[in-house]
Amino acid sequence: AARAALASWSGPGRTADGEPVKILANVADGESARSAASAPVQGVGLFRTELSFLNRTDEPSVEEQADIYAEVLEAFGDDRYVVVRTLDAGSDKPVAYATLEGEENPALGVRGLRLSFENPGLLDRQLDAIQRAAASTGTEAWVMAPMVATVAEAAEFAAKVRARGLKAGVMVEVPSAALLAHRMLEVVDFLSIGTNDLTQYTMAADRMATDLAHLTDPWQPAVLQLIAITAEAGRRAGKPVGVCGEAAADPLLACVLVGMGITSLSMAAAAVRPVGAQLARATVDDCEDAAEAALAAADPLSARDAVRSVLA
Ligand code: PEP
Ligand code: MG
Repeated sequence: AARAALASWSGPGRTADGEPVKILANVADGESARSAASAPVQGVGLFRTELSFLNRTDEPSVEEQADIYAEVLEAFGDDRYVVVRTLDAGSDKPVAYATLEGEENPALGVRGLRLSFENPGLLDRQLDAIQRAAASTGTEAWVMAPMVATVAEAAEFAAKVRARGLKAGVMVEVPSAALLAHRMLEVVDFLSIGTNDLTQYTMAADRMATDLAHLTDPWQPAVLQLIAITAEAGRRAGKPVGVCGEAAADPLLACVLVGMGITSLSMAAAAVRPVGAQLARATVDDCEDAAEAALAAADPLSARDAVRSVLA
């Protein structure tokens, strides 16, 4: 039955009892966007802009950036929307013209939005390019910043984005942002939880370290708690809170996230059908029971087992 459901699921995302959950794609450039656009997704939940610039030594002009962003927006011009993430340079994604040299501990250093404290023009030019791409394609663009740690950062970013007529959000990747999600939501239009970094920073375990895989697991109870706090803040504020890290691509965990109140799941295109089909088999009540079981578990293994039996 599961295999038949997988083969026949064709979107849009919703639970068995019809509660809508947006299923979105993670993309890197025009090519991956065009390929994701043929999947049953309602848009893009994470466009990782820095991936186009990893091998650049100089900053692309506003025009050149606008062309790159327009290629992605163009692929979703049929009433869908694209969440563009501003440059997440630094740490595991160094960009020559933006990243600082010689940092002792780059994952805890000047990465993501923090680069714009040093170099505000970098962010301003990228936002100009995104605004231009949105205007030329007519596609709805939301814009979010990576690696946000304080409400003041979120407010400053949101002001710049809204000045260009676009919806503003921040990623929840640092535990401080999850704990203050309710205050973040007073200054932005939406949140998107990056579970890869949120797990890394909550567990103090390098996401690239294969020997720490037992710690860099989004099923860790502390990570689930922070996601639940963030989702609950979104429910209370009546604003969208999505997940765009690897966790959203795990069909069992996707149900848990929906049960916590997460409103969109963004993932690699290959995960869209398995996640969509699993969600279509669970009611909102099932998802809430799954979330409760996961949050009550002592460790990742028992959380998975508990959720598996709730959803069986
Ligand atoms: C994340 O951290 O979960 C995320 C989606 O961003 P990235 O993997 O690009 O750091
Ligand atoms: Mg991240």
